[in-house]
Amino acid sequence: MQRPELRENSEMRAYCPECKSICTFHSRNPDQGGNHYSSFSVNFSAEEILSAGKDENGYPYNRVIYHAYKCGGCGRGGMSASYISTKNSKKLKEFYPSAITHELLPGTLPEEIKKEYKEAEICFGNRCNRAASAMIRSTLEKILKANGYKEENANGFDNMWLTTKIKEATKDGVLTSARGERAKNDIKVLGDEVVHRDWREVTDEEVKNALQYALWIIRDLYDDRATTEEILQTKGRL
Ligand SMILES: [Zn+2]
Repeated sequence: MQRPELRENSEMRAYCPECKSICTFHSRNPDQGGNHYSSFSVNFSAEEILSAGKDENGYPYNRVIYHAYKCGGCGRGGMSASYISTKNSKKLKEFYPSAITHELLPGTLPEEIKKEYKEAEICFGNRCNRAASAMIRSTLEKILKANGYKEENANGFDNMWLTTKIKEATKDGVLTSARGERAKNDIKVLGDEVVHRDWREVTDEEVKNALQYALWIIRDLYDDRATTEEILQTKGRL
């Protein structure tokens, strides 16, 4: 999953849906002496300045600038919105086209787990990091449950805690102990915090990590499904 990235020279690295790859979008027109394509800025109200936050040196963001871009590959247009501080430092807020890329998942992965993981990617692509964290935790839980890590009562309710699921899967050898540890720390704890603790901002790095570990776990369990199923049957899970 690649988010648009603003480079030093005002170029943007972002996914282009026409080129179907990460491209450089240019903000300057080489045919017009390198002038910027169209742009305009809008000043923030006092209230907006407060909610926009500050730059890395503590100066408040007091306006937003909108810039037109052109894809270096196919020439399609793009538009960015960046916050500008009173000392002119810039922070990218949004870029259009905001195409969301999806990882290729193993064909043997159950459809509902694929959908859950994709929804986490869509949340992250739309900068809903807290929602993404909860979806990744849910993906992990569903993967382990689908592999027999569950204790269902008479009503079909699964009583096995996610920590236990991870521990049992590690004990059976379907997850390495390093992977089990990351699943607990980077996915379960993060998801629990979002749902049960006080509000806090979840960073892009945290979500990227969680998505990455969930993906590795999916591949551990589904890339060579026949071998995994053999182990699960030996351990009495399936
Ligand atoms: Zn393009």
